[in-house]
Amino acid sequence: MSKPVRVRFAPSPTGPLHIGGVRTALYNYLFARKHQGTFILRIEDTDQKRYVEGAEAYIIRSMNWLGLPFDESPAKGGPYGPYRQSDRKDLYIQYANQLVQSGKAYYAFDTPEELAALREKLTAEKAPATNYGSASRMSMKNSLTLSKTEVQEWLDSGKPYVIRLKIEPGQEVSFRDMIREDVQFSTNLLDDKVLLKADGMPTYHLANVVDDYTMKISHVIRGVEWLSSTAHHVLLYRAFGWEEDIPKFAHLPLILKPNGKGKLSKRDGAKFNVPVFPLSWKAKNPEDSFKGFDEFGFFPEAVINFLAMLGWHPEDEQEIFTLEELSKAFSIYRVSKSGAIFDYEKAKWFNQQYLLAMSVDELAQKLQPLLKKTDYNPSPAYLKEVIKLMQPRATFLQDILEQGYFFFEDVKVYDKKALKKRWKPEKQAILDELADVLEGVDRFLPKYIEAAIKEWMGEKELGFGAVFPLIRLALAGTLQGPDIFEMISVLTKHVTVKRLRTFSEKVGAV
Ligand code: GLU
Repeated sequence: MSKPVRVRFAPSPTGPLHIGGVRTALYNYLFARKHQGTFILRIEDTDQKRYVEGAEAYIIRSMNWLGLPFDESPAKGGPYGPYRQSDRKDLYIQYANQLVQSGKAYYAFDTPEELAALREKLTAEKAPATNYGSASRMSMKNSLTLSKTEVQEWLDSGKPYVIRLKIEPGQEVSFRDMIREDVQFSTNLLDDKVLLKADGMPTYHLANVVDDYTMKISHVIRGVEWLSSTAHHVLLYRAFGWEEDIPKFAHLPLILKPNGKGKLSKRDGAKFNVPVFPLSWKAKNPEDSFKGFDEFGFFPEAVINFLAMLGWHPEDEQEIFTLEELSKAFSIYRVSKSGAIFDYEKAKWFNQQYLLAMSVDELAQKLQPLLKKTDYNPSPAYLKEVIKLMQPRATFLQDILEQGYFFFEDVKVYDKKALKKRWKPEKQAILDELADVLEGVDRFLPKYIEAAIKEWMGEKELGFGAVFPLIRLALAGTLQGPDIFEMISVLTKHVTVKRLRTFSEKVGAV
């Protein structure tokens, strides 16, 4: 690669950043790191109708949470700023005028009604191109059809007009996409896109190309939904005489719904009960509020690892990667063309792997904010004992406190099915006897507890099935849970004995 690598993430602040956008940002970041390049944030906020307050701040917060810092951005600045398109307005007007002067673009004065009539007519005729373009522009009101004086009068009158790109028919546009290989378009089917709108704002196409050029972007890595715009972008580069500087393109595959049927949308979060945004987003309308990966309890490292694998795969079978390792292993040529299914079970699996790899101390520290929201006030040593038992069974941090709540407070719910199958009031006598046995265990450690219980079971000729499910129900309310002897030991003699002795009262009350 001869030119320095400069890539940009160019979101539009039209709402919270969708997880697909996060993946685009991540792939740009990885590509930049891999090639010692520069990672740029450019805010594309020229569509004022779709602008949403707070969206830009949300993008920054999300990227900070994930730990993906920009080298140049609106906040950080840089040599090619400003990095927010609304602050670059004059530049686009200047470049649009330049194209009009060189005959590559023209003024158009058609009213919305005239445009609608054109579309209707072309559709009725079953014309190959149904938009304003080379086949129809000579029948419309623009600077190609009006006289010079008429055009000047119009411009001077202050009435609205737009600037359109003049596309020459009969040409082939081709470019090589790093993921999709050769892509070709015929200009006969391309419309004369508006470049500058009546409000003086550029369209996405003009602003995007002008900025990629002036910011010296070397590679454009973006979602496949922008592939069809690329033909216009290539033509714009040609119109400006910038053909030598066309960046390399890489169009990323779609992220598909968990059931594989179509593109993952923001509404799929609620539908499939999965997060599709990095952080939670609160809006006035509850339908537009979304719960993020953060609120589901994901570690940012796990989200990154999951997203990295959503459309890309490494050379070997390795699945767990730190960001550092990803930056080395990533290759844009191993990004797939076909859509990647959003597999939520896999996302959870990644989180679990990260949780399993954490030390008990680290988990104890990360649990503090969650503990603050409860009435639990465990000693540091007790908390660590609980973590040791619950860590292998947890997917999320909160599972340690939620599934292991009985370590911190009395049992609240009993598994009804298990109770029905295992429990009869006559069995309280067994639990009372067991409580006596445990009271006699001096050093309340798992191995002594185990020995005492097994000896007593032997004497009484009681099988595992007659005793263990009862103990689990009395201590935790469920048949699942960590090793029974360790659980008894951590709960302490006092609590264990109390729960065993009061079991019949408690279940009577539940
Ligand atoms: N503003 C566009 C978006 O919201 C940028 C697309 C591109 O990267 O060219 O995704």
